[in-house]
Amino acid sequence: MEGNFIYFLGTGGSRHVMAEQLRSTGGTFFNINGVRGIIDPGPGALTQMVKAKSLLKPEELSAVILSHGHIDHCNDVNLVIDSMTRGGLRKRGTLFAPGEILNGKNQVLFNYLKPFLEKIEKFEPQKTYSLNGLSFSSSGLHQHGMETYGFSFFLGKEKLSFITDTAYFSNLVEFYENSKWLVVNLVLEENCGNAKHLDIKGVKELLIKIDPEIAVVTHFGKSILRKGPQKVASQLARETGIKKVIAAEDGLKIKLN
Ligand SMILES: [Zn+2]
Repeated sequence: MEGNFIYFLGTGGSRHVMAEQLRSTGGTFFNINGVRGIIDPGPGALTQMVKAKSLLKPEELSAVILSHGHIDHCNDVNLVIDSMTRGGLRKRGTLFAPGEILNGKNQVLFNYLKPFLEKIEKFEPQKTYSLNGLSFSSSGLHQHGMETYGFSFFLGKEKLSFITDTAYFSNLVEFYENSKWLVVNLVLEENCGNAKHLDIKGVKELLIKIDPEIAVVTHFGKSILRKGPQKVASQLARETGIKKVIAAEDGLKIKLN
């Protein structure tokens, strides 16, 4: 069986980067303990999966995970569900998402696709979920202007965490402590106003306090792309003492071992 890995279908964040497709915005694919899933299938998720089809087959997915309902995180969710289930011919998979985007006025999921799924799980803060031997937990609520969660996956005793969109606040450290691998959405170079996103200073603070073995920054806004994600990653490594800080690129595969 193929080993555990994550694969970046997209590394772009913010409306400008998405609109100009300076980076793809397809989210992150994972294969953990034989369970294949996608986190935040933004615009281009299906296209990027099809491009890497030998590795990432939509019909083999069994988990679709949404952190929140902004378009750069969920635009392709309906497409991915339709492809995963072959238009509903093969009922399959579980969708995990915040309640406010499953039903009601901010709903992003097409009603007609709901019966195609085996299960729909509504996220609650700091709850553990399991799916075919994959165990993961939601974080507490992020500060992002809408219902938003990050996640931690458990690979034996080791923890892989995704800090999705959020402003910096001190509880983040407690949600993501003891992570061996930490993937962080780094949108801004500097948060000048009160944008509900992390900037370099906030990520540096988190890396120092959480102290992962391997940190990966992704979901870059325009200011980070202008500065150069590699340069930012090197700066973070230097300033935090974490030896391995990786700037994600579209199509990057990271083995988890
Ligand atoms: Zn967002």
